[in-house]
Amino acid sequence: MKTLRNGVDMPMTGLGVFNMKDRDETIQAIHHAIDTGYRLIDTAKVYGNEEEVGEAIRTANIPREQLFITTKVWNSDQGYDATLKAFDASLQRLGLDYIDLYLTHWPVPEKFTDTYRAIERLYEEKLIRVPGVSNHHIHHLEQLAQTANVQPMVNQIEIHPYFQQEELVRYCQQQNIAVTAWSPLGRGDSFEDPVLVEIAKRHGKSPAQIILNWFKTRDIITIPKSVTPSRIEENFHAYDFTLTAEEIAQIESMNRNARRGVDPDAPDMVQ
Ligand code: NAD
Repeated sequence: MKTLRNGVDMPMTGLGVFNMKDRDETIQAIHHAIDTGYRLIDTAKVYGNEEEVGEAIRTANIPREQLFITTKVWNSDQGYDATLKAFDASLQRLGLDYIDLYLTHWPVPEKFTDTYRAIERLYEEKLIRVPGVSNHHIHHLEQLAQTANVQPMVNQIEIHPYFQQEELVRYCQQQNIAVTAWSPLGRGDSFEDPVLVEIAKRHGKSPAQIILNWFKTRDIITIPKSVTPSRIEENFHAYDFTLTAEEIAQIESMNRNARRGVDPDAPDMVQ
C-alpha cells in the first residue's frame, strides 16, 4: 500500500483493463485478479468497459469498500461542466456511488485546468476519495499548482524499462504526488532484452516479475494488464525477492527514451 497525501491507502499493484473488450473475459479477469489479491482496478471511460468493471465488482467475493477503483475523464469531455457530466455518466455505468481515484486522462490544452477544477469539486463533495491526473508533464503540474487549491495526489504516466521518465518521477515524488506507471511492462517489448533475461534467470523469476519488482524499488505503483489467469497471478507475486543495487542500476541503464504512447504535448493527441 502507498499512503497518499490525504492519508488514503492506494494498492501498489493493480489490474489495468485497457483493451479488454469481451464482456465475459473482462469480468473473469477481474474476478481472478480479486481472488488472487488485487484490490486496485484501473479503467477509463474511453476503454468502453466501465459497465463490465461495475458488474465484476458487484459479483465479486468481497465488499466494494475493499476495492480501489480508478477511472478517467476522456479528452472530448474536458472542461468544468463537461467533466462533472462525464463523471456522473461513469458512476452510472460503473453502478457505484463513489470512485476512489478520478483522473484527467490527458492534459487537453486550454481545458485541463478547468477539468481539474471539476475534479476538485468532486473531491470536496466526497464523490471521489482521491483527485489525480494522468500524462501530465512538469509544466502542466506547475500550472495546476497556480490554479488548484488541492494539488493532484497521483500522476499516472507511461514508464517502463525503455522509457523511464526519471526527471518527471523525481519531480512528482518531491511534490508528494504518487506516481503510477501505465504500460509498466512496455507491452512486453523488453522481455527478451539480455539484461532482463539474465537477472530473471538469476532469481528464477520471469522478466515481467523483474520489471514489476524494480518499480517497487522506485516506489512506483503499477497496473499491468492481462486476461490470462497465470499471468495475472505472476504479476501479483513479483515481490518475494530483492534486486541488488547492481541489478537496479543495470535496469536503469536500459532506458532509451522510447515512448510507446503519444506525447502529452503533441497537438494531435487531442480527440
Ligand atoms: P502493459 O505494459 O501492462 O502490457 C500488457 C500486455 O503485456 C498484455 O497485453 C499481455 O499480453 C502482456 N503481459 C502481461 N503480463 C504478462 C506476463 N506476466 N508475461 C508475459 N506477458 C504479459 O500495457 P498496457 O495494457 O498498455 O498498460 C497497462 C494499463 O495501464 C492499461 O490496461 C491501462 O489500465 C493503463 N493505461 C493507461 C494509459 C493512460 O493514458 N493513462 C495509457 C495506456 C494504458
